[in-house]
Amino acid sequence: MSVNISIIRETTPGENRVALVPESVKKLTDKGFKVYVERDAGENAHYPDSYYKESGAEVLENPKEVFSHSQIILKVQPPTPEEIDAISPGSFVIGFLQHYKYPERVKKMAERGINAFAIELIPRISRAQSIDALSSQAAVAGYKAAVIAANLSSRFFPMLTTAAGTVRPSKVLVIGAGVAGLQAIATARRLGAVVEGYDVRKAAKEEIESLGARFLESPVVAEGTGGYARELTQEEKDMQHKFMADNIGRSDVVITTAQVPGRKAPIIITRDMVEKMKPSSVIVDIAAENGGNCELTKAGETVEYGGVLIYGPLNLPSTLPTHASEMYSKNLLNFLNLLTKDGKTLDVDFSDEILQKSCITYKGEIKI
Ligand code: NAD
Repeated sequence: MSVNISIIRETTPGENRVALVPESVKKLTDKGFKVYVERDAGENAHYPDSYYKESGAEVLENPKEVFSHSQIILKVQPPTPEEIDAISPGSFVIGFLQHYKYPERVKKMAERGINAFAIELIPRISRAQSIDALSSQAAVAGYKAAVIAANLSSRFFPMLTTAAGTVRPSKVLVIGAGVAGLQAIATARRLGAVVEGYDVRKAAKEEIESLGARFLESPVVAEGTGGYARELTQEEKDMQHKFMADNIGRSDVVITTAQVPGRKAPIIITRDMVEKMKPSSVIVDIAAENGGNCELTKAGETVEYGGVLIYGPLNLPSTLPTHASEMYSKNLLNFLNLLTKDGKTLDVDFSDEILQKSCITYKGEIKI
């Protein structure tokens, strides 16, 4: 019996992405999978039902109908409690499941015998790069943060030489040079700004400089494990505070992306630092969803403080849903390759650390 794969319309407010785009559906149907799609599943990402049908999918009216046909359900956001009730026991659910935020949904999935894999828990090893949805979506967020910053700013990013005189380029500081930060740096550079990057990991220096930006050298180095940063000690936080306070006033635009795994985002820009910034400066804080890197950030809002605009966007990948979905969909296709054999059978090999580490419920058990 061939494996049936399905997607439904995401119902989380503000979520425009879809888990599979028609191009990926075609790859699956060519391999022999059957694909079921809820009506209008791709509408907000601008993939109409007709594209899915042309790719070999069957479009059904509602999630209940879709679930009744599927062994594998691909999602962007975690399934809602109502969706979990409608999913058949023994089915597989794969998506950004956010188990720390929704422990009751994890429990419910285990109770209903649903096998759940959280794409955000995939280990960031070389072999998993093509499945790394955290990276693909962080790249979208970093790009969009720079574009939003340029839009909010009252200044040009590039230098302009015109008959009306020469305009100096904007100075952009990107704090946190991981996947999102590096993409923000690259985008701000393409827009012509003079860009500085700052991070507490040593490896970031080379990456920032390779993008044509200046590395803001600080006395604080805080390498953690697995290529991530660790939380700073109080002494290091004080050093970072002094260093930032001395530097931040030079920037017209600050984009903050700093995160420490498993913790609230570190506060790097304090109120007194914002007071040192020029009126008309802009802060785009993409760590807002996780508490923010600026003390004054309000998630989902734009705050004005002494003429400085501070914006804390939520779910930036969803604001670029066509490409964000395309990238995410490719990540899921690559994950499916690990989970299935020859397009016909489901084969969960837990000796593979990618499957083992991303599994949150299996055969009635909670695995995390
Ligand atoms: P992240 O989202 O956890 O953090 C973003 C950045 O914030 C990181 O660069 C971190 O060093 C920085 N940061 C944390 N605390 C800070 C502080 N107090 N001050 C300044 N900066 C601070 O990180 P990420 O973007 O997911 O990736 C982090 C690392 O993992 C990078 O080195 C990246 O290249 C690596 N990575 C590897 C793979 C892979 O090998 N498959 C995939 C993705 C990322």
